[in-house]
Amino acid sequence: MPDNSCLTHLSCWKTGKQYDADRLINVSDAGKPLRVEYDLRGVAETLDRDILATRPRNLWAWRELLPLPFDIECPTLGEGGTPLLEAERLGRELGLRRLYVKDEAVNPTGSFKARGMAVAVAMAKYLGAPALAVPSAGNAGGALAAYAARVGLAAHIFMPQDVPAANRLECELAGAHVTLVDGLITDCAARVRAGCAEHGWFDLSTLKEPYRVEGKKTMGLEIARQLDWNLPDVIIYPTGGGTGLVGMHKAFAELEAIGWLDAQQAKRPRFVAVQAEGCCPIVSAFAAGADEAVEHENAHTVAAGLRVPKAIGDFIMLDILRSTNGTAIAVSDAEMIRAARELSAATGVCACPEGGACLAALRKLRDSGWVRDSDEVVLFNTGSGLKYAEAFAGGTT
Ligand SMILES: *Cc1c(COP(=O)(O)O)cnc(C)c1O
Repeated sequence: MPDNSCLTHLSCWKTGKQYDADRLINVSDAGKPLRVEYDLRGVAETLDRDILATRPRNLWAWRELLPLPFDIECPTLGEGGTPLLEAERLGRELGLRRLYVKDEAVNPTGSFKARGMAVAVAMAKYLGAPALAVPSAGNAGGALAAYAARVGLAAHIFMPQDVPAANRLECELAGAHVTLVDGLITDCAARVRAGCAEHGWFDLSTLKEPYRVEGKKTMGLEIARQLDWNLPDVIIYPTGGGTGLVGMHKAFAELEAIGWLDAQQAKRPRFVAVQAEGCCPIVSAFAAGADEAVEHENAHTVAAGLRVPKAIGDFIMLDILRSTNGTAIAVSDAEMIRAARELSAATGVCACPEGGACLAALRKLRDSGWVRDSDEVVLFNTGSGLKYAEAFAGGTT
């Protein structure tokens, strides 16, 4: 156990069984995701808001709440520290007290996948992984390729043949080994498993290792800081594998534990998971009152980040949606493409279809009254629209 970080151990998200954090590990004995646990009292003693204020505004500013030992160099490409932009015109049009866009498009590799991969690749390297692998139909591959290049490890990326050109190109430019698979993302995942078994690669698939969530968590830490240690009423998030949702919820719990959230203001955000009509297992499970999701058959959507027919962290997401009085909602591809154009034109961000999906969902939730005019809302633009040329050209409008 590294004694020069605040990390203490890992625990199974399902059973609570504890695991040491001193070696490479994927999932628990129960086959479930592992949660990273910290000595939060130690964090509170080491870090305060004044110290934080002296640090550069990026992901690694939160070093005490991240797993990498303090004496190990952070492999950064400048991830995190993204703007929380007030969208005044859009907010007025929607009749909202306050609307913000957290713009993750400005991360390295053009999406928030950079946050998760920065931390996961750093930990994999530190713990001695010989090579890294991931299945990807979108932004995860490029982010892994970039951070693997940064630390000097080989990356093996398996992509469906119809992956957008930009996603494939960025992997190849970063020197990753890209294999195009004649099949779906599930077929790519099978190839990754086989490669890991045969060659000893380390699998960095969503929630199949503990540390991508920790990187994504910093989105929640940043929102709290940007709102002066208050939290918004509603967070609208485009949900695929769920690392962002799970990470932000964990971030708020940790900030509360170290006493950084305004105690007067007991408010905690209601989380909204937005999915595509063509792939919405969490929306279906939420509506059915189920604790786990059923695999979505024939999953299809132009929003590559949302094309996750079965997520290993489904039970964690569903629990978060219920315990925060949140909800889950699906939008069509045509709606998200149209809304991505609106979001870009109304705010200046370069919106991806997933970001558009959040705006389309917000409109529906305003119409139904679920989001009230007094609510302060944060919606996420999770990546750059520039990586989705095919989707915007595809006539889905
Ligand atoms: C991966 C991805 C998502 C979904 O992210 P999760 O946190 O894994 O649910 C959303 N948007 C974009 C652009 C993505 O690349």
